[in-house]
Amino acid sequence: MKTVLVIGGGITGLSAMYELQKWKKANHADLKLILVESSSELGGKIRTVKDGSFVMESGADSIVARKANSMPFIDELGLEREVVYNSTGRSFIYTDGELKPIPADSVFGIPASIESLANSTLVSAEGKVEALKDFFTKNETFTKSDSVGTFLEYFFGKELVEKQISPVLSGVYSGELSDLTIASTLPYLLDYKEEYGSIIKGFEANKKRFQSNGEKKFLSFRNGLRSLIDAYESKLDEVEILMNTKAAKITKSNNRYHVKLNNHEIIEADFVVLSIPHTAAETLFGDEELVKEFTGFKNSSLISMYVGFDVPDSILPADGTGFIAANTDELSCNACTWTSRKWEHTSETGNLLVRLFYKSSHPSFTALKEMNEEQLLQVALMDIHKGLGIIAEPVASEVTNWTEQMPNYLITHPKSVEALENKLAETFPGVIIAGCSYYGVGIPDCVENGVRTAEKIIEFL
Ligand code: FAD
Repeated sequence: MKTVLVIGGGITGLSAMYELQKWKKANHADLKLILVESSSELGGKIRTVKDGSFVMESGADSIVARKANSMPFIDELGLEREVVYNSTGRSFIYTDGELKPIPADSVFGIPASIESLANSTLVSAEGKVEALKDFFTKNETFTKSDSVGTFLEYFFGKELVEKQISPVLSGVYSGELSDLTIASTLPYLLDYKEEYGSIIKGFEANKKRFQSNGEKKFLSFRNGLRSLIDAYESKLDEVEILMNTKAAKITKSNNRYHVKLNNHEIIEADFVVLSIPHTAAETLFGDEELVKEFTGFKNSSLISMYVGFDVPDSILPADGTGFIAANTDELSCNACTWTSRKWEHTSETGNLLVRLFYKSSHPSFTALKEMNEEQLLQVALMDIHKGLGIIAEPVASEVTNWTEQMPNYLITHPKSVEALENKLAETFPGVIIAGCSYYGVGIPDCVENGVRTAEKIIEFL
C-alpha cells in the first residue's frame, strides 16, 4: 500500500487531499492518505471569526469571482447556494484630513477620460493643467522595463501621481511606484502612449475593457470563507487528519520518507506534499544545498484589525466602501475597508464593521509590530477617529498579526521556483512543494495548485 502525506491543512493541502481521495475512491485504490496540521484548526490563512452579530475574516476575505467561476470547486463542494457577492461602491482617498472620492472613470487612480481628470477633488487646478501634457508629449525613451512611477510623472506631472495615482496603484502592487516596472504593473499604459499618443486617449479608446457593467467582482459565503474549509473537511472521510501535529524533519530511507513529528512519532510515506509556507518547509531538511534554494523566496508583513460598533453603518458617506490613506504622516493604517457596507453578511444588524490594514512598508509598522493587541486596538481607534470621525466604544474587535506571512514574489520568483523544484526532484523525489509561497497567492490559484499537485502524484500511483 502506498502512503501520501500532506503537510499543512490550508486551502492548498485540503484541495490536494480532496483530489487524491477522489482518485482513490474512483479507482478503489489501496492508498493511505494522511494530513498533518500544526495548529488546532484547518484553513491556515482562511479563518472566519464570529463575534456577536459580526463575521470577520482574519486572513483572506473573498475570492475573485471571475477566477472562481471558471473553476468547479464551489459547485463540487456544494457551496453554490451559500455564495454572496460584494456590494459595489465608491472608494475614497484620505488626504489633508479629509476623505475625497477617487474620481469615477479612473483605473487605479489614472484618469480614463478628460472629464474624470476635470472632476477630481484630489488634484489642484494647476495639477490638472499639468496633467494635460499627456495629450501632447510623445514617448521617446520609455520602455516597459522602466519605472511606472517615473513614466506616469513624465506624462501627468507630479501632483496627479502623488495625490491620486500612487495611493491606489502602490497599494495594489505593494511597493513604491519608483521601484515597480511598467511591465510588472500596467504594461498597456506604454502601448496606449505609443498607439494613441496619450494614455487618457488610450483608455477612452479601450473603454469596454475597463467597464464593470455592474458585475460583481468578489464572492464569499453566507457564513464566511470558513465554509470552504468546512466543506473540504466534511468530505475528507478517507483521510486521516492529525491536528496539533507539526512536521519537524524529513529524512529519506529506501525511496520512502520518514517524517518526524513534534510528538516524536514518525510517519512513513511514499509521497510528501509540503503545502506549508517556504519558511516552514526549509526547516524540515538537513540538506544544506537544498536549503540554499529557499533563499530566493521572501515574505512581507501585515497587521489586520477589525473593529465593530453599536452604530448603524449609514453614518458613513453614501455608497462608500472604504478608503486608502495617501500620506504616511496622517494615519498609521494603509487602508480601511467598510466591511459591513461591502459585505452585507458580515453584520447581521447593519451596524458598522470596519477593517484596517497596516503594512510593513508604512513607517509606523516598526512600532506597531512590538505592540500587544490592546495597544494595537488603540491605534486602530485613533485612525477610525481621524479618518471617519467616529469616537464610539467598540463592541467587537479582531487583531491578526501576519508577520512574515505574506509571500512577496520577486522578479526572480519563477526562476527560484524552478531551481527548487529541480533540486527537490534530484535529492528528494516524491517530495513536492505546493501553495502560496510558490504558485500564486489567490485562493483559486491555491485550489488549482492543490489539484495539480495531486495529479503529479497520481501519475506515479
Ligand atoms: P496556508 O494557508 O499558509 O496554510 C499552511 C498551513 O500549514 C497552515 O494551516 C499552517 O498552520 C500549517 N503548517 C505550517 N507549518 C507546518 C508544519 N511544520 N507541520 C504541519 N502544518 C504546518 N487570497 C484571496 O484569494 N483573497 C483574499 O481576499 C485574500 N486576502 C488575504 C488577506 C490576508 C491577511 C492574508 C494573510 C492572505 C490573503 N489571501 C487572499 C491569500 C490566501 O489567503 C492565501 O494565499 C492562501 O489561503 C494560502 O493557502 P495555503 O494552503 O497555500 O497556505
